[in-house]
Amino acid sequence: MEQTYDVIIVGAGPAGLTAGIYAARADLKTLMIERYGAGGQILNTYEVDNYPGLPGITGAELGEKMDSHLEKFGVERVMAEISDIRFSEGANTVVTDAGTFTGKTVILATGNSPRKIGIPGEAELTGAGVSYCATCDGAFFRKRTVAVIGGGDVAVEDAIFLARGCEKVYVVHRRDELRAAKILQKALFELDNVEMKWSFIPKEIKGIEDGSVKGLVIEDVKTHEETVLDVSGVFIATGNTPNASYTDALEKDQNGYIIADESCRTNIPGVFAAGDVRSKRLRQVSTAVSDGANAVYSAQEFLI
Ligand code: NAP
Repeated sequence: MEQTYDVIIVGAGPAGLTAGIYAARADLKTLMIERYGAGGQILNTYEVDNYPGLPGITGAELGEKMDSHLEKFGVERVMAEISDIRFSEGANTVVTDAGTFTGKTVILATGNSPRKIGIPGEAELTGAGVSYCATCDGAFFRKRTVAVIGGGDVAVEDAIFLARGCEKVYVVHRRDELRAAKILQKALFELDNVEMKWSFIPKEIKGIEDGSVKGLVIEDVKTHEETVLDVSGVFIATGNTPNASYTDALEKDQNGYIIADESCRTNIPGVFAAGDVRSKRLRQVSTAVSDGANAVYSAQEFLI
């Protein structure tokens, strides 16, 4: 007969991994469902410099540390992608491409993914010069000129990272002020090979016959004049969208993030949302970790 887990955790980023550690330590019969392996979005971050106790650690290292911490407890793990959840009190069915699993409680820690901007050339040239991950793909553009689109923490971190190896980095931002943390802005403005393109929106990514990027068309938001940047790589860092399309039954905010309180309780009893997929103000490793712990505490309360 199919077994019923006390808790099924979906997602293996910082929130899911923390939930796994707390669930194992609470002796809950736990299943972790992960899509691409452990780490989540921190794997796309070169350096995580604001997680207490581990200054300057790389995203990859932090992901590995959290993963091996969880491994120590021998939690059951399966590689699978969730497509649906059928809610039923005390016996929720999580439907995945590797089968269905039943849990008395479910913690959704499915995170979010980079947002597409939807300009011509973006989809066609993704993987051929258009990237959403500077730390993954930056090395392909050593000594070349690239553009970063966006003005948040990720865009600025990406630009700083790329400037180490690239000849030149343009930062294309639609306003005349960055959203990124001041400490990051300061580091960015100190770099000689970074040029800001203030108040420009991206219009089109141009490719050449061999299918690689040859330029980025940008438009001045004030004059509507167009300029073509001669770049061979375009890094898009324009925010994220939640990975929550597998359910319509949970309450979500206007951006599609799952609404759950500070205890991570959703509108369905026994179902919890943790980390970046939860509607919240601040998405950081530290807040994801906090959610992971809270979600398990709430799941335990529910089980009792
Ligand atoms: P974000 O803070 O939402 O920034 C997205 C940027 O993209 C904004 O500057 C936005 O412009 C721009 N943008 C959005 N749509 C656009 C479009 N269609 N065309 C052109 N530009 C567009 O996203 P993020 O940088 O990915 O960061 C996500 C979250 O992770 C944030 O909460 C961030 O603080 C956090 N984070 C923290 C750290 C850290 O603390 N070390 C590191 C990475 C990420 P506007 O500014 O005009 O809206």
